[in-house]
Amino acid sequence: MRADAGVVPVQWWRHRLLYPLATGLGYYLGAVLGVAASSMSEGIAIFWLPNGILLAALLRAPRRDWPLYLLAAVMAEIVADLPTFTFANALGFAAANLFECLLAAWLLQRVSHPFALDRLRHVALFGLVLVLASGLAALLGASIYSLSAPTTTPFWDFWTIWWLGDGMGVLLATPLILGWLQGPSRPVARPSLEAAALLVLTLLFTTWVFSQGATDSFPRRPFLLFPLPLWAAVRFGVRGAASIALLIATIAIMATLKGVSPLLAATPADTVLLLQEYLAVLAFSSLALAALLQELRATHDELDHLNRELEARVEARTHDLQLANQHLEKLASIDPLTGASNRRHFMGLAKVEISRAKRQGLPLSVIMLDIDFFKSVNDRFGHETGDKVLVALAATIHATLRGGDIFARLGGEEFVVMLPGQGLSEALPMAERLRLLIAQNVVPGCPAHITVSAGLAALEDASEEIDDLLRRADAGLYQAKNQGRNQVCPG
Ligand code: GH3
Ligand code: MG
Ligand code: MG
Repeated sequence: MRADAGVVPVQWWRHRLLYPLATGLGYYLGAVLGVAASSMSEGIAIFWLPNGILLAALLRAPRRDWPLYLLAAVMAEIVADLPTFTFANALGFAAANLFECLLAAWLLQRVSHPFALDRLRHVALFGLVLVLASGLAALLGASIYSLSAPTTTPFWDFWTIWWLGDGMGVLLATPLILGWLQGPSRPVARPSLEAAALLVLTLLFTTWVFSQGATDSFPRRPFLLFPLPLWAAVRFGVRGAASIALLIATIAIMATLKGVSPLLAATPADTVLLLQEYLAVLAFSSLALAALLQELRATHDELDHLNRELEARVEARTHDLQLANQHLEKLASIDPLTGASNRRHFMGLAKVEISRAKRQGLPLSVIMLDIDFFKSVNDRFGHETGDKVLVALAATIHATLRGGDIFARLGGEEFVVMLPGQGLSEALPMAERLRLLIAQNVVPGCPAHITVSAGLAALEDASEEIDDLLRRADAGLYQAKNQGRNQVCPG
């Protein structure tokens, strides 16, 4: 709570006082500059910055604060105009300028809110809106000029001057302020060194090109400067393009005012027009390029993000699929009732173990087990109890085996155990142990005494395969059954 209490007044002070005051000051300085530096002896304004400053401020500020900015702008307009114009005229000019900025800000915010020059479409609409808003405001401004004093200048000349001067000011000032407040579009490696080089080159080249009369020869022409704002647009985005455009505009306007520009035309009005056309194309094309590149980068980043998301999703799905496959494989290889391997799986494992035993010259044996009189267990106690007997028997065998042993249900109540690394001398006591453990087993719900008969076989020569072993073990089992069951016989 305490920390918040300090933050709120600071925010309030900034938004309600500092920013509107700064806008008013900027507006005033822009107006003074517009009158002093950008007008020729005929009083033709080349560019009118205040509206560009106010428009940028309105686009950044919340709408509820707009009246504060407008109030600051009206005060600045009156203070700047009063030395030259009447109070009524100053109010009229303020009305025209405020109308222009409000209309432009409202239209641009309808396109995107908050408005930023980060899309080619936004730059194009910005151009259209500034042409429209300054054109409409110029009707009001030109009327005030025409009506306030007797003049020979035609209304439409006043209108053109106002329109182009305002448009030029907005084109130069608004993107600059918005660009710097928005921050860089993308970090550039060693930005200060490259920015300094760009700034110095722009300063040198622009001064070189604009410090001569119109007659000088190729390549010392204004079009030579076009790569500079384009370079700024590519490497430093909107704010770079706007800054370089303003620097070129400042030098070009100063040179034109001194009358040494290569863009001098027959009349001062035509000279101003030529300069405005030149600067408008230069500023607008670099802005459009900066916005287009930023848009492409944003699209690229978005695609990159989507791609990575997709890859992550595919990876997750592949993992799920692998797990599902493993599960299916397990299901396909295991007897669901007892958890022992099924016949198919056993045959596969057995082949591998037999070939390994042959390769390494190690012994290997199998024990085949069959429950005695199991049919009568089912008949007397039911199939479900029979199942419980099977489960209990499998659990007993499982608990007795070592890690490398293989246990499978061959079918019905017939089981097999493979003992890799163990010959008949080890398999015989093992089978005996199993037989005794099973005979001691008490299965809940089954009052009958469960016993098994077992047959044994061990790998004897290299020609033997699993079928031979099983056949011999089965022969032993058959013998065990014949000799009275509940016993172990080698096959
Ligand atoms: P023997 O001592 O000669 O082996 O007699 P037996 O009754 O065990 O032999 P037989 O092959 O005649 O009977 C096997 C019985 O096992 C027949 C069948 O009903 C039963 N059986 C086979 N599979 C299952 C099973 O999954 N669950 C249950 N409860 N019984 C099964
Ligand atoms: Mg049986
Ligand atoms: Mg049987």
